[in-house]
Amino acid sequence: MAEDKKETKKITIEDLPGVGEATAEKLRENGFDDIMTLAVASPKDLSDLAGIAEGSAIKIIASARKFADVGNFETGEQILERRKDVTKLSTGSKNLDNLLGGGLETQSITEFFGEFGSGKTQIMHQLAVNCTRPLEEGGFNSDVLIIDTENTFRPERIIQMSKFRGADPDEVLKRIHVARAYNSHHQILLAERASEMAKEFPIRLLIVDSLTSHFRSEYMGRGSLSERQQLLNRHMHDLLKFSTINNSVIAVTNQVSARPDVFFGDPTAPIGGNIVGHTATFRVYLRKSKGGKRIARLIDSPYLPEGETVVQISEDGVTDGV
Ligand code: ADP
Ligand code: MG
Repeated sequence: MAEDKKETKKITIEDLPGVGEATAEKLRENGFDDIMTLAVASPKDLSDLAGIAEGSAIKIIASARKFADVGNFETGEQILERRKDVTKLSTGSKNLDNLLGGGLETQSITEFFGEFGSGKTQIMHQLAVNCTRPLEEGGFNSDVLIIDTENTFRPERIIQMSKFRGADPDEVLKRIHVARAYNSHHQILLAERASEMAKEFPIRLLIVDSLTSHFRSEYMGRGSLSERQQLLNRHMHDLLKFSTINNSVIAVTNQVSARPDVFFGDPTAPIGGNIVGHTATFRVYLRKSKGGKRIARLIDSPYLPEGETVVQISEDGVTDGV
């Protein structure tokens, strides 16, 4: 049995019946580069994107499903046991912490979405600072990884926020590891690399700011939508896996344009497709208000009531502003 498992790990897409070298190449070029991706693909996507007959696509998917290591069922008891390790990271604002049931949960993905300037990046900086703080202060006393796709990480902001919290800015900066992601593939690779880093030292917070910007600009137009969603889906699952293995918080941002007509009717509608919304456990919609205030609204939480609260963004960072 143990040997079987080892065998399974080594299987590549060429091992699937009906996948020769040429087909494998087409599949790889279009992002279907491992058994798991094929196992969860739809026949239509596979045939449209990789240009293979739908009949063959159905067969390829069926055999990939047999080989894929899809994970096991867990009992409710096992899940409860794992969830006992869940801890919460403070946002710096009591209001926002309360809205989230005490802070950002480990073993989950929390998405902050809103228009440009709504404070997403400021909140990411604050979370990074807080994570390095001791438990008594709502932190995890741990290092942080930031995948920065828009080149908006500013150590100067970390210094300001640290000083306000009475933390030594140099000590905080030493524990925040930032990588610039130059495109979506680079971003995916960095998320994979994060797991290796987490073996060397504890990383209880992984930030992706912004989760969607590269995907959005690289995959424009109808034709590339399903490929984009598929890559994004895989990326989100890598992040979720990281969060459970390392008992860490994943915080991601997602920009949406200001369309009050769309948003106030249904704020969840237009954001990066369904993939992001379905994989993120907590979603917080941010919008600007007067004098550095932001309104945060919790959306679609599995067990917390929907609600809104006000946070303040200032030189000090994220606070209640009182
Ligand atoms: P986005 O949602 O696009 O990531 P940001 O998090 O970058 O938005 O928010 C930018 C806003 O944060 C600015 O418009 C400003 O209101 C506020 N901000 C940024 N830096 C400071 C600072 N040093 N002092 C006060 N407010 C700041
Ligand atoms: Mg930003």
